[in-house]
Amino acid sequence: MEDRTGDVARLILDSKKIVVFVGAGLSTESGIPDFRSPGGVWDKYDPEDFYFQNFLSSESSREKYWQMATEMYDAMKDARPNAGHIAIAELEKLGKLDCLITQNIDGLHSKAGNSEEKVLELHGTAMHVACLTCQKRYERASIQERVSSGDKAPRCDSCGGLLKPATISFGQSMPERETAEAYRRSAACDLFIVIGSSLVVHPAAQMPVVAKRAGAKLVIVNRDETACDDIADIIVNGQAGQVMEAILESVRRIKDREA
Ligand code: NAD
Repeated sequence: MEDRTGDVARLILDSKKIVVFVGAGLSTESGIPDFRSPGGVWDKYDPEDFYFQNFLSSESSREKYWQMATEMYDAMKDARPNAGHIAIAELEKLGKLDCLITQNIDGLHSKAGNSEEKVLELHGTAMHVACLTCQKRYERASIQERVSSGDKAPRCDSCGGLLKPATISFGQSMPERETAEAYRRSAACDLFIVIGSSLVVHPAAQMPVVAKRAGAKLVIVNRDETACDDIADIIVNGQAGQVMEAILESVRRIKDREA
């Protein structure tokens, strides 16, 4: 692993515009389960219960959705960023980060110190709630208080519309600005680093392919194999936090040596 983390560090120092693309695997070391690993979210829930169409269709589906969403939020709300999040924030401080495309909804990038304008949240955020009718946004904590005092499927104070965590469910449209920007930045970077994603959820999983076709180097840091391993320049299999910490350590060492 050491050789490869050194090679990634070299690539980072030789790059001007880095796009980092992350998935649920980045946050498992912060105690938030991913979807597909054993013990992950899909071992516990039926993916169909997360379909947007079901949320719209009946009050009982909405109540079930809020119940699952509350359990997931409970695992996220007090989570702390791990070494992987901190390493990505350090890339920003080094002036190397063009943007961070995240599939995560846990709000840990801002807790780690990445600035808001660098982060593209492709699947929204669980830290807010939005009205599906008038788009009014609420802090998640305030709506959770209502849920825990018995409001099983809360509605908007202003218009009575359905309230839903501001995340993108299956069957719900992707956010236009973030998606367009993510494609644009992927096509314009010189290094694309994937961390903690199985790369099977589309359209997010196309970004590494877009970057690679446009001439960027592709690095994948993941515990298990991914759908894009065959096109990667460097693959480091391991725990994201540990690997990213080693990579940044190597970046600092090379910088000091060459200063
Ligand atoms: P995924 O569950 O499909 O894949 C996670 C990948 O991370 C797996 O390949 C696994 O091998 C790897 N992994 C797990 N722990 C790791 C670790 N410590 N170090 C390195 N690799 C590790 O997740 P995905 O690709 O992000 O896509 C699924 C969807 O899950 C996304 O849409 C995302 O919105 C949603 N999700 C987000 C969170 C979160 O916000 N933290 C949690 C669960 C699911």
